[in-house]
Amino acid sequence: MISVPLPGFPDLMTANMYVLGSGPVTLIDSAPKFPGSLNTVQSQLESFGFTFSDIERIIITHGHIDHFGLASQIKSLSGHDVPCYIHEDDAWRLSRNYLESGMWSEDSVTFIASMGMPEEIAQRMKRRSAFFKNLCDPIDDVLPLQDGDVFTGEDFELVIIHTPGHSPGSICIYEKRRRVLFSGDHILKHITPNPFHEVHRSRLKDPTYKSLVSYLQSLDKLSQLCVERVFTGHGDPLDDLPGLLASYRQHHAQRTQDIWHALENRPRVVFDLIPEVFPLLKPDEEWLAVSEILVHLEILIDEGRAELCDSGPPAMFQAL
Ligand SMILES: [Zn+2]
Repeated sequence: MISVPLPGFPDLMTANMYVLGSGPVTLIDSAPKFPGSLNTVQSQLESFGFTFSDIERIIITHGHIDHFGLASQIKSLSGHDVPCYIHEDDAWRLSRNYLESGMWSEDSVTFIASMGMPEEIAQRMKRRSAFFKNLCDPIDDVLPLQDGDVFTGEDFELVIIHTPGHSPGSICIYEKRRRVLFSGDHILKHITPNPFHEVHRSRLKDPTYKSLVSYLQSLDKLSQLCVERVFTGHGDPLDDLPGLLASYRQHHAQRTQDIWHALENRPRVVFDLIPEVFPLLKPDEEWLAVSEILVHLEILIDEGRAELCDSGPPAMFQAL
C-alpha cells in the first residue's frame, strides 16, 4: 500500500495506491499530481524494492483525478509500454478532450440551472473544477475493462467487479486467494462515499443511470463475496465489510427519509434544501450537497414518495 498525502482535502485522509509485486507487477490507482506526490510514490515503491521501470500494468478503479492523476507520468517513467485499464464507462474521464474542457459541459450548465444554484456559487464551482485538471495528466490510450474480467499473476488472481454508483464506471477488484477487495471509492472506512449525480448525461451509455440506485445495487453485489480485508481508495483498510455495508444502507435510508420530510409541506428547489439537510456544510461543498440531495430524490420518485412538480428551471420537487 502506497499512501500519498492530499493537501487541502483532510476528509479524504490519503490517496491510496497498491502495488502487487508478483509478476506482472500491477499498480492499482495513481494518486493526484500534487507537488512532491511523485517523489512520495517513488520512495514508497523503493521501500518495497521496486522502481517505476518494474511496473507492468496499471488498473484504475474509477475516472476521478485522485485515482489516475500520476498514471501518465508513471507510464512514461517506466521506460516501456505500460497498459492502463479502466472500466469502459469511465474511460472518457481520462481523455484530453474532457480534461481540457475543465470537466465542464453544457450538461453542467443545465444541471446548475435546474438545481437553483446561484450564479456566483456556480462560477466558483466552475473555477474549482478547472483547477482540478492541474492535478492530473490525460491518458487517451486506456484499455476498457468490463465486469468479470480477470487479471492473473504468479501469485494472484484479480477479478473485476463493476460497482457503479460513485461513478458509472467504478470497479472493485477482488483477489480470490487471499479474500482481499480493493474497493476504490465504493467502500471507505471513515466516511460514506458520495454517489455522485452524473452531470455529464450526454456522455452516458445508459441515459437512465441513477447514481444512488446503482450504488445500493453495487453494495448488494459485494455482499455476495467472502472478504477478509478491504483496501480502500482513501484512509485505512477495514475488516468488517458486512458491518460496513449494513451501516451504509442505514445511513442512506435515514437521509432519504430526512429529505422526504423536508419536502412534506411545500414544493422545494434542491439548492434551498441544503441548510436543512446539511446544516454544517463547509465552503466549496455546495455541489456535493446538491448532488447528494438529488440522488436521494431520485429514490423517492422511484418509490412514488415524491414528484417533480415543476420542471423549471429551477426544478421543484414535493413529497407525496
Ligand atoms: Zn477518491
